[in-house]
Amino acid sequence: MPSRSPRPCSHPGCPELVTSGSRCTRHQREQFKQKTAVAMTDERRREDKRFYDSAVWQKVRAQVLMKEPYCRECRRNRRVTLADMVDHITPIRLGGSRLAASNLAPLCDRCHAVKRQRESMEAKAG
Ligand SMILES: [Zn+2]
Ligand SMILES: [Zn+2]
Repeated sequence: MPSRSPRPCSHPGCPELVTSGSRCTRHQREQFKQKTAVAMTDERRREDKRFYDSAVWQKVRAQVLMKEPYCRECRRNRRVTLADMVDHITPIRLGGSRLAASNLAPLCDRCHAVKRQRESMEAKAG
């Protein structure tokens, strides 16, 4: 009885047979790529957090909210809502400025959630 019989690759739907490890060469490589992508997202998230915790951002944010305490998006729709946060109009990851007043807009949580959703839909559309 052979000790090592070929088994199908553990990637769902992959017809390759493997004799060592659990994945075929192609899917081993893909698994590695995915891990690298996750690590990069984590690193970016840490960097974002460092920025949002920084004194300079806290100061700029306070200045924006002092000048414009109401949600800009709500105002456009003739609603008056106190802003909950300061949003980057062009997201930092798309090259928007982190601290320039021209790239900052006070938003309420609701409008921010809507904007985020729209952005992720646009990102998916390509
Ligand atoms: Zn495979
Ligand atoms: Zn709003």
